[in-house]
Amino acid sequence: MAERRIAIIGAGLAGCEAAFALAQRGIQVSLFEMKPLVFSPAHSSENLAELVCSNSFRSDDPKSAIGLLKEEMRSLGSLTMETAERFQVPAGKALAVDRKNFSAAISERIASHPCIRLERKEIRSLAFPLPEAPEAEAVIVAAGPLASEALAHSLSRTIGENSLYFYDAIAPIIAAESVNLERAFPGARYAPDSCDYLNCPMEKDEYFAFYEALLAADKVAARDFEQEKHFEGCMPIEALAERGPRTLVFGPLKPVGFEDPRTGRRPYALLQLRAENLNRSAFNLVGCQTKLTYAAQAEVFRLIPGLERAEFIRFGSMHRNTFVNAPGVLTGNLSLKAAPRLYLAGQITGVEGYVESAATGLWLGLHLASEGRLSPPPPETAWGSLFAHLQTPVKHFQPSNVQFGLMPELGQKARKADRKALYAERARAAFAGWRSQCSF
Ligand SMILES: Cc1cc2nc3c(=O)[nH]c(=O)nc-3n(C[C@H](O)[C@H](O)[C@H](O)COP(=O)(O)OP(=O)(O)OC[C@H]3O[C@@H](n4cnc5c(N)ncnc54)[C@H](O)[C@@H]3O)c2cc1C
Repeated sequence: MAERRIAIIGAGLAGCEAAFALAQRGIQVSLFEMKPLVFSPAHSSENLAELVCSNSFRSDDPKSAIGLLKEEMRSLGSLTMETAERFQVPAGKALAVDRKNFSAAISERIASHPCIRLERKEIRSLAFPLPEAPEAEAVIVAAGPLASEALAHSLSRTIGENSLYFYDAIAPIIAAESVNLERAFPGARYAPDSCDYLNCPMEKDEYFAFYEALLAADKVAARDFEQEKHFEGCMPIEALAERGPRTLVFGPLKPVGFEDPRTGRRPYALLQLRAENLNRSAFNLVGCQTKLTYAAQAEVFRLIPGLERAEFIRFGSMHRNTFVNAPGVLTGNLSLKAAPRLYLAGQITGVEGYVESAATGLWLGLHLASEGRLSPPPPETAWGSLFAHLQTPVKHFQPSNVQFGLMPELGQKARKADRKALYAERARAAFAGWRSQCSF
């Protein structure tokens, strides 16, 4: 039987997971990594699977979505999880690692694998067949959020220029159940009967308390490579605020078209919360993309009436991030609709985070090894919820970490304290069912 070969561009977390999963099943892999010839602005080590920022893989709590995802990946032999456990450092409930040893160990496993040919080379142009590995039956692009410019532009030409994004301007996302509905009320601008948004009205003194705190709050310093010009519509809220005390009242916090049901008057300012998912379990603070530190975000946004006890599912951020409009350009098996033998894995697909990136690489490696027979896990599982996120059409697609809000709603009413356990229990049962049908 002819030897099978697959090419992978980028030996980060996703690329290494995919390469290892394929190689362990006897498939030949041509793995291209541009380091150390070319470094992205955030990478600095020659090692593969470099952790560019934090050394934490986040919570290992089996009742959290990220804890579940790790559990699911372990059950399918994840290289990232196995190596992380070998080089774990104490970090409470989180799984944190000695980053140097972690990356060195993965580099060693990959470079010494008899089925992997590791080549240090920047792939600048995307094509199928790939000139650098013409015999490869498929090409996986796992070049990450800082994919080299030439490759990113080549990908953009393949999928259409409006489908590749280079910057992430993220507003905080909070849990619906943490919104105080004694102050926040449903309704859209000029449409009080609509339930599309929740709205937090502010009186003048409340607005100015928020405004002053926003100006005084700590901000994350931009890295050199992030000194990009912001689009006017994506300005950080604190930068807009610096333009004058009432700029926000005429911008993202404008109250026109609303009456506060408590007073029957138009409020001085108003923040809209937009549902993040169909089951309305999470809401986005519209227009509040920000570079404030996480601690400052919690403090400042909780000054807004209705958000006093807001539980942040994800904090806002603004950083360089190359990712595709996944629902528009990717099929359910992570191949490009425009070029079915080209696949994406890792953060560039529109997932966010080390573990999530590795998870897509592992699944794709297993999927291609099985010659397409392995389907994604069901959306009730942590892993499958990421695939559901990538396939759900939305107006403005944004990358996401794994979270319970990506999963289908629970079919039963439950107390807040019980919800996580119920999501986790359902995910475990769904995963076991899927796992029992896959041959790995
Ligand atoms: C600055 C920054 C900080 C981050 N911090 C965190 C964090 O603390 N925690 C977290 O969970 N997530 C973080 N992320 C998000 C993300 O999870 C990580 O970037 C993660 O490493 C993504 O994995 P990946 O495999 O998709 O890409 P990467 O790990 O970035 O791997 C991509 C690899 O492809 C190589 N490459 C790129 N272009 C080419 C090319 N043309 N030819 C050949 N090789 C190429 C790169 O050199 C790199 O080795 C951060 C992202 C950024 C940009």
